[in-house]
Amino acid sequence: MKLLEERIRKDGTVKTGNVLKVDNFLNHQMDISLFVEMAKEWKRLFADRPINKILTIEASGIGIASVVGIEFGVPVVFAKKAQSINLDGVSYVTQVQSFTHNRIYDVIVSKKYLSADDHILIIDDFLANGCAVNGLIDIIQSAGATIEGVGIAIEKGFQDGGKLIREKGIRVESLAIVESMDAATGEITFREQPQQN
Ligand code: 5GP
Repeated sequence: MKLLEERIRKDGTVKTGNVLKVDNFLNHQMDISLFVEMAKEWKRLFADRPINKILTIEASGIGIASVVGIEFGVPVVFAKKAQSINLDGVSYVTQVQSFTHNRIYDVIVSKKYLSADDHILIIDDFLANGCAVNGLIDIIQSAGATIEGVGIAIEKGFQDGGKLIREKGIRVESLAIVESMDAATGEITFREQPQQN
């Protein structure tokens, strides 16, 4: 999506350790008009899918997913990162390795909000090694729900997450795929995606 690529070039900064900072419009301050355009693009890309719920993970996914929920006219559920989990059977639970904080945490979704009848679109801000999305896939599978696809704002194409998830046969639509980024020069290149606006 050209609009997002241009914004990343303008406002993104490349940090050491393969981290792209987009706090100015995505992760801290949020440009909601941009989120609306992103949501419209996912609506167009997933128009053939019977999506009835959006699933994301706290915290950075929530803002984007909320706007996507409006565009699709469906509820948005976010997986919670739990400090200590109570294995009382009322929640689906999985473990996720955090890319940005380098630790493993438990992630939960109440069984009240996911069921075998659901057709889910996963939304997240970044796809790096795929741990966060894989955790959400795990939770959806525990509920017996259907994964209709994954919508990612920024995929780092030089990391393995996108490949691993597509290899499972799951459709991933990333609105910008970073092919390379250089912390020394700040240069960012993107993968061509012909089907996108
Ligand atoms: P993964 O689980 O795919 O390795 O990483 C995805 C998660 O880590 C995202 O939910 C996002 O919050 C965070 N993340 C991964 N890479 C980056 C990055 O380059 N910049 C920022 N801001 N967050 C990232």
